[in-house]
Amino acid sequence: MAERNRWQEEWLGRAPCLIDGEWRTPSGKTLPVIDPYTERPIGEVAEAGEDLVEQAVDAAVRAGRSWNHSEPDARAETLERLAALLQQHGAGLAALVTRQMGMPIALAKASQAELPAAVLRSFAALARTTAWRERIDGAELLRVPRGVVGAITPWNMPVHQIIAKLGAALAAGNTVVLKPSEQTPFDAVLLGELCLAAGLPAGVVNIVHGTGPVTGAALAASPRMNAVSFTGSVAAGRTVAELAARNLAPVTLELGGKSPAVVLPDADLATAVPAVVRSGLVNSGQACNATTRLVLPRDRADEAAELIARTLAELVPGDPKQPQTTFGPLSSARQRDRVLEYLAAAGDAPALTAHEETLPEHGFFVAPRVFTDLPASSRLLREEIFGPVLAVQWYADEDEAARLAGDSDYGLSAEVWSADADRAAEFGRRLRVGQVKVNGVRTRERPAVPFGGFGLSGFGRELGAEGLLEMTTVQAVMS
Ligand code: NAD
Repeated sequence: MAERNRWQEEWLGRAPCLIDGEWRTPSGKTLPVIDPYTERPIGEVAEAGEDLVEQAVDAAVRAGRSWNHSEPDARAETLERLAALLQQHGAGLAALVTRQMGMPIALAKASQAELPAAVLRSFAALARTTAWRERIDGAELLRVPRGVVGAITPWNMPVHQIIAKLGAALAAGNTVVLKPSEQTPFDAVLLGELCLAAGLPAGVVNIVHGTGPVTGAALAASPRMNAVSFTGSVAAGRTVAELAARNLAPVTLELGGKSPAVVLPDADLATAVPAVVRSGLVNSGQACNATTRLVLPRDRADEAAELIARTLAELVPGDPKQPQTTFGPLSSARQRDRVLEYLAAAGDAPALTAHEETLPEHGFFVAPRVFTDLPASSRLLREEIFGPVLAVQWYADEDEAARLAGDSDYGLSAEVWSADADRAAEFGRRLRVGQVKVNGVRTRERPAVPFGGFGLSGFGRELGAEGLLEMTTVQAVMS
């Protein structure tokens, strides 16, 4: 009870680091953590420098001496205890996410509490069923953990992104040093407490806070890092990959997206169009797999535009702590300003919008906007905006739809809608994207399906059996 109250305090204090099972609060440079709805600070984060990062790596190396050799069944039981604790504390975790980055609370409960618990359970099941030892061509093949895994995560789906990395790494017997986003340190602290409560030995999970260029870079560059798993922007992903390459540490990169939603001519527009608009604007567009390009049939443009306008009008902007809110502020003033720059670059290109005059008076809000006729060369069609800005690309026939949908440097995800699910799947296979979602299936309904991209969306996969195998390497014993 006392613990719950601590997380409900107005001022959450300074986020501590977790090193070898002990909470440590670094002194030195601090950054405020700002509630993007009230625009007021709710706590602060002190930057861990290279020394503290190396102490965390030390702890992970030492803890690995036994955890690397633990029984998969025992790891599965620990992950199941962690999943139960996460569920028990789900409301608190969701509330923390909402206060730190403005995600509407209903979405936070589903995506930052229920989904991570399901992901942990899926990794527990995989720990039990993975072929840790196999015989191949007269050799015994052992799947062994990589060792110490550095996990660097962003703010937009913070608990889910941490758990996708922790679940895989721990199920495979690795130890972890986590650097969460400096914008969302407090959910990571609560998760650290839950890890200890679940019985994870000291040093198996360590947490260091701070900015990317200082703390994140120190982690990626640490000579004793055996693998680095990164989620975030393309620019930071490149830097992390370069730093890790100096030590030949393998890297998994989950980067951005510019995902298309293709509504085929036979689809029911009245169902498909509102659904793809909502999935483009989920979390105010701050989702790497948001469907930000709507590929729609030109000969039904009027009907589609009407459906888009109606869907925008139905959004409920407001206090993200309120259950009825479906459209929250952007996560920071910086993110809002970035989005406004893109809107300025579009000039007076035709667009549908809503709520421009009725947004709350405070909070980093930007009204949702759907451009309906951008020139093919527009930056807004090619670059990830990470805000509530979508663009329609009209097509004349299916080949043009496939060409438009595939014309991207990214390749994370695509939605395809058709009256015939097989036809939609067939169309989806033509696209070089990591996930194809037919007729509105949600990523969060399938916690064990691999997630990751082609091209600028990165490489490697998270979740499911592929996500677990990324966290292992192979030893062949021949006799
Ligand atoms: P970001 O890249 O700035 O930060 C992500 C994380 O990396 C943070 O913890 C940050 O501190 C750290 N970081 C930043 N620079 C670093 C550096 N030089 N060295 C080491 N670490 C560094 O991104 P963000 O603003 O936090 O998140 C938004 C971006 O993340 C978007 O572009 C979005 O598409 C992407 N993203 C991708 C996925 C995915 O799964 N593919 C998921 C969520 C977000």
